[in-house]
Parts: sequence; C-alpha cells; structure tokens
Amino acid sequence: MSYKERTKGSLRLYKRAQSVLPAGVSYQLRDITPHPFYVRKAQGVKLTDVDGNVYTDYWVGHGALILGHSPKQVVDAVAKQLPNGTHYGFCHELEIELAERVVDMMPSAEMVRYTSSGTEANLYATRLARAYTGRMKMLKIEGGWHGGYDSLHMAVHAPFNVSESAGLNPKTVEDTSAVPFNDLDAAEKALKPGDKACLIIEPVMGAGGFITPEPGYLEGLRELCDETGTLLLFDEVVTGFRLAPGGAQEYYGVTPDVSTIGKILGGGFPIGALVGRREVFEKINHKKYPGMQERSAQGGTFTGNPISMTAGIATLDALKGGKVHKKIGMLGGKMSEGLREIAGRYSFQASVIGVESCFALHFRPKPPRNARETADSDGRAAKAFYEHMLNNNIAFMTPSTCHAWICEPHTEKDVGEFLAAAEAFFKSYKG
Ligand code: PMP
Repeated sequence: MSYKERTKGSLRLYKRAQSVLPAGVSYQLRDITPHPFYVRKAQGVKLTDVDGNVYTDYWVGHGALILGHSPKQVVDAVAKQLPNGTHYGFCHELEIELAERVVDMMPSAEMVRYTSSGTEANLYATRLARAYTGRMKMLKIEGGWHGGYDSLHMAVHAPFNVSESAGLNPKTVEDTSAVPFNDLDAAEKALKPGDKACLIIEPVMGAGGFITPEPGYLEGLRELCDETGTLLLFDEVVTGFRLAPGGAQEYYGVTPDVSTIGKILGGGFPIGALVGRREVFEKINHKKYPGMQERSAQGGTFTGNPISMTAGIATLDALKGGKVHKKIGMLGGKMSEGLREIAGRYSFQASVIGVESCFALHFRPKPPRNARETADSDGRAAKAFYEHMLNNNIAFMTPSTCHAWICEPHTEKDVGEFLAAAEAFFKSYKG
C-alpha cells in the first residue's frame, strides 16, 4: 500500500488543522508532501502514526534526541522531578548542575546562560558579542542557519543577500554580511581590525547538509578573528554533544570565544544556551555592569526550567565516557560508506557526507564545499528519494536536503534497511 493509501487518518487531521494552524502546521518544514503523517507515539527510533504505521526515525526531534525518543533514564529522572515542580521561576540547584556538566564537557565553556531555544541563544550570544566589543557589524556564512532571530535571518538561501522573511525590518540585517563556507580568502577580506563584533559559524553546516570544514579552515578563522579582534562564535546547536561529547570544538580542536548550544542539551525538552569565556560573559553580570547601557541583558520566563535541566543532566550523564558516541559514530560510518558504495555501484549522481553520526546525501556528483555549490543539486531526485523512503517507512528531513542523524537506539538492522531501500531507489530511479 502506498503512503497516501495508508495514512488516511493523518490526512483527516491535516485537513482539520488547516482551519486553526496556518498551512495546517506548526513549522513550515514539517509540511511534507502529499501530507504529513501524524505521530501518536514515539519510542526509541520508532514513530507510530495515527493509522498504526511505524516509521524508523532519522530526524529524531530535529537532531535533539541523541538517546532516541523517551529514553528510560530521562523519563525516570523527569518523572521523579515532575511532582516537585515543573517551573520554579526562582533559583535552584539543577541549573548549576547542568551548567557544571557543560563546563566540564565543552572546551570553550567557562560560563553558561540558558535560553528556551537555539534561536534565542543566538540572539543573546550575538547581543553579547556586540555589547562586549562595542561594534554592531557581524559576519555569517552563506547558507548558515541560526534560527529565526532577525539579525541572523538572512543569507540562508541563494542569492544569499536577502532576508528570509516578509515583515523583517531591513534595518535589522543591515549590519550582517555573509561569506561562503570553506573560503578563507573571503573571510580575510571581510574581517578588518576593530570592525565586526563576531563571526558566527556552524562548524559543520547542519541544515545546509552537513557540509564539513576543510582542514585548516576553522583554524584559519580562529587566527583571523584573533588578528582582527573579532569574537569567534560557534553555533553548536546541532553539533554540540553530537560530533563528540564536547561538540565540534572538541572534534576539530578549535576553541571559539562564545558558543551556542541547544537541542541535545535539553534531553528532549525545550532549551538553548550560550556558553563561553568568563571575561566575555562578565558583560552579562549586572552587578559588575549595573547600567542598562553597560550590560548585555539576558533572561526569560522559562530559562533554566527544572524539567529541561533534569532531562539535560540525565542525557549528558549518559554521554560521559564516550560509549554512545562510539556506537553512533560507528553506525554513521557504516551508513555513509554503504550509501557511497551503492551510489557508486549504480553510477548514481549522488554524493555522501558522513561525519560521525551525521550523514547527508547530495544529489550532485561531488560533496558541496559550501552552500553555493548546492545550487546544481538535483532537487527532483532528492524529492523522489524522500518519497520513496517514506513509502518504505523511513522518515528524515528534508525533502530537498537529505540530512539525517543516527542516535543511540538505531541498530545495524535499521541501517541495513535504510541502505536496502536506498539501493532500490538508485536502481530504479529514471529521473
Ligand atoms: N542554530 C542551528 C545550527 C540550528 O540548526 C537551529 C535549529 N535547527 C537553530 C540554531 C535554532 O534553534 P531553535 O529551532 O531551537 O530555535
């Protein structure tokens, strides 16, 4: 039975949703064609929809669920916390405990401030960079995704010089410019002494399809930032606790001044955080800088809420020792090598990027070096692949850029099934 035929209950919900949710969804990227499936239950890496179909999940909560859906240690810890309070709104020990773990694990982290999402983390981190340096200009990377904060909501899609939304005041992006990833010369031209507050970059481009930094690139950016007095800001919302327990900064051995994290940090509950050098973070200290125009303001109703803190602590504790990373990295390697081998066998115009537990399939002969190079990807093939995999009960995002995550509950059997379904596609797709 095709996806359409066996998701009739989902279609009914999708139609019902149209009258109360714009386009029927809570987030544009979940509006998959022909219609989304509606999840009733999620456990491990298996999603069950309202029609009883079971999917193997490679989207795993936008990459947040490194231990899969509802892992026992997180569920138990949260269940214990729930009767003691879901939201204190006052100081408590759990916010210190999670911060101590982050400082322990992430090379650049000396101090931590929580937010409720990655978007907010980037808002406050860039505000901090601007407050600390006293400069307004910022440099980002073409194709870099940092969430919906106005000043960073530009240069995500080609032609990389436009904002990403109607209603976004052009003045808020006036001071933001962008250069291509993996291009040190462009970064060198853009960075001048005393000019920009920060360079914000995903060390591995997440939504861009896991484009990886070439050897020397991140090191070169670190040097350029040092030479020009620009803060290096790593957006590790995706890579944090994912590439290694200490994130991309541990994996690549390059230490930023400030980093943003989220996703995995919350163990399946909403979270974000900015972390970094003590001296920079002192600018948030209202005791040291009591004047409104002196300090970098930061806060929020749900910041440091005890449920996200509890789930985060249980998750980070499970990652200690590196056992989880070893397993998911090994499976990720099998997945990307397998995909590469199959694409080669059928001479399919596809290339694979694999970095630890992250893998992406680009429908072009060579892996892209930056977002510009993805312009010639075969979007029709990507969409057909997505629909084919969905028909085989395999779910990931997005239909235009297949980028996916292995998490702890995935098995060799799951990887084998993914590869078998991909092989059937490479064998039969006629374009
Ligand atoms: N930065 C990166 C690299 C992201 O991938 C995302 C979200 N996918 C964000 C920031 C924004 O995080 P959130 O959706 O939690 O606001």
